[in-house]
Amino acid sequence: MTAKIDNYLEQNNPATPCVVVDLERVETNYRSMTELAPWAEIFYAVKANPAMPVLSSLSDAGCSFDAASIAEIEACLEAGVSPERISYGNTVKKSADIAAAAAKGIGLFAFDSLGEVEKLAAFAPGAKVFCRIVVANDGARWPLTRKFGCAPDEAAPLLLAAKQAGLVPAGLSFHVGSQQTESERWLEGISRCADLFEQLAAEGVSLELINLGGGFPVPYRNDDGPELHEVFDSISRALNEVFDNKLPRILIEPGRAVVATAGKLRSEVILVTERIYGGRQLWVYLDVGRYGGLAETEGEAIQYRLEFQGQPDAFASAVIAGPTCDSHDVLYEDASYDVPTDLKAGDLVTFQNTGAYTSTYASIGFNGFAPLAEYFV
Ligand SMILES: *Cc1c(COP(=O)(O)O)cnc(C)c1O
Repeated sequence: MTAKIDNYLEQNNPATPCVVVDLERVETNYRSMTELAPWAEIFYAVKANPAMPVLSSLSDAGCSFDAASIAEIEACLEAGVSPERISYGNTVKKSADIAAAAAKGIGLFAFDSLGEVEKLAAFAPGAKVFCRIVVANDGARWPLTRKFGCAPDEAAPLLLAAKQAGLVPAGLSFHVGSQQTESERWLEGISRCADLFEQLAAEGVSLELINLGGGFPVPYRNDDGPELHEVFDSISRALNEVFDNKLPRILIEPGRAVVATAGKLRSEVILVTERIYGGRQLWVYLDVGRYGGLAETEGEAIQYRLEFQGQPDAFASAVIAGPTCDSHDVLYEDASYDVPTDLKAGDLVTFQNTGAYTSTYASIGFNGFAPLAEYFV
């Protein structure tokens, strides 16, 4: 499935570390999602991989976009996306950024507090707004709880306040956390939203949309979560049940599930050595680490599958560490990774499914290590 990437790496032998992204695969991932969830409008979460070739491919394929900042909005516009296909999904925005977005024609904004309603009313008067409610994130490898989202009880008063202030109360959103491995989390959110649709209808406000957020899982080493079609099937059943087969506009904001499987990261082994303090242990130092784009290895949350050269037949457990002098720059210690017993300095190690949340997570040069190079095929 990543033959194009393998060929590119084979033929070009680029300096490591680098990520190679297969744009055809990005587009296939998007298209298969439109087939699995024909009832949803897909707003790609730009932060997962904001590279221009990715945005352009998705824009050409007809995708919409969830942007979290003015720079992301500008990147989408530059990729040829019309403003109606962009949602400003960050619930915490500077007034100047709201005004700039409105001036560029963005008309759909997220919020989750009264302070944000006031800013939106002042700087994007008449805009459509949706209120983000908090839902449980259990089951997510990369949870997002508490930082965003109001309590469900606050949503109706907030949407009424938005209406009062001259905004258009358009709907509700929630986010189940990233790399969510339990479909039930979306079902809980949907049921909350259905209750709020009723409650607001009774107050004379008819909402038009629900944004189910992102979080759709991809296969990593530690995940035997549901397949995408299972997640979408159960979401579809729940929506049709609570809305009696008359669905409102449904938006989804997948990031990871669109780009992760389209990328591979190649790194080089700098050193393999045994450390004897605290128990004899093999350590493998790579030229990529926590600060070089693998931020999601924090807490060993996201465990990438590794590929080694050749056909190794004997493996030994090792700690995998990055190249910087920071002691947090250890990728996997408890996760018990196995490496070939003959692994040595200069060998190549490839991380699978690294098209999401890697390149832009890399530091600009901590300890003198350059940001992660990214190539597109
Ligand atoms: C990060 C984010 C997403 C994308 O999440 P994935 O887990 O990559 O699908 C979608 N919506 C919002 C609001 C986000 O913050």
